[in-house]
Amino acid sequence: MIVIMQPGASEAQIDHVIERIGQLGLTPHVSKGQFRTVIGAVGDKQPAHQHILESLEGVDRVVPIMRPFKLASREFHADNSVVNVCGVPIGGPGLTIIAGPCAVEDEPMLRRIATACKARGAVILRGGAYKPRTSPYDFQGLGQDGLKILRQVGDELRMPIVSEVLSAGEVELVGKYVDMFQVGARNMQNFYLLKEVGDTGKPVLLKRGMAASIRELLMSAEYILARGNRNVVLCERGIKTFETEVRFTLDVSCVPVAKHESHLPIIVDPSHAAGKRHLVGPLALAGIAAGADGVIVEVHDRPEEALCDGPQALLPDMLGELADQIAKVGAALGRSMVK
Ligand code: PEP
Ligand code: MN
Repeated sequence: MIVIMQPGASEAQIDHVIERIGQLGLTPHVSKGQFRTVIGAVGDKQPAHQHILESLEGVDRVVPIMRPFKLASREFHADNSVVNVCGVPIGGPGLTIIAGPCAVEDEPMLRRIATACKARGAVILRGGAYKPRTSPYDFQGLGQDGLKILRQVGDELRMPIVSEVLSAGEVELVGKYVDMFQVGARNMQNFYLLKEVGDTGKPVLLKRGMAASIRELLMSAEYILARGNRNVVLCERGIKTFETEVRFTLDVSCVPVAKHESHLPIIVDPSHAAGKRHLVGPLALAGIAAGADGVIVEVHDRPEEALCDGPQALLPDMLGELADQIAKVGAALGRSMVK
């Protein structure tokens, strides 16, 4: 349930409500809105709790949250949330471009590609060091060495970095290097991993599972939020359908549905959906037109040599062209580019 405070409620009144929620064995989560403060009380609640909280000073009313995803819902937090990745916002009025190779292959390669991406409008650098591959014989990533390279190049170019973490046991190690964790599609319902990245408080890019519903995506986000980490960015990256012309089907409807249900930012990953570079641009633009807060795209300057996902990698100049088009679609929607 949520405790909706009166518009002029004092800090002392808010603190008292938070204290009482704790005493009732519930976990308080505070959401400061433009006009009033809302306090979520999550946990095993009893009917009497509502009346106890309603009787407190400064409380306007107490209402149950109807959605199963409580903290991710707009009932709990009406305004759009903005996630700050080391100074780069995702989810505000601007559109954010995250780009880089699928995998970190070596240092010169990452430096070349990252420099090219930055020059063409990318503001956050991506690169996988731990790769979830369908085949155990495929390149699995450079591991910690890859993270070191990513950190080095990110620092040189002053770009925050995002990289995937595959297991709960590796969160501490990966967290020493990255500015934002990526939880991949194959791990969207790895609840131990979600709790662990939740505990770090660091931004998390949560990708939708390829066979997961939008509601399941929001429930996974809830796992991270329930640990007190508000920095969750959703990502639609394509789902399995009967269509074989694309690697996955980018579910554009996920964007407006998630926006309607949740205050969390959402971006699209057209690269893994498309599987082919000529489809990446149109899908990215469709996502932006549908209301996404940005894109994450794979880029390689020598895609034929790429150790992972070469066919879907944009060439650097294709990213430049796409960034221009995103800016135009964004302008039509009253949105600017995050620089
Ligand atoms: C990736 O971003 O390289 C990746 C493996 O993505 P996904 O989890 O969406 O397949
Ligand atoms: Mn990839």
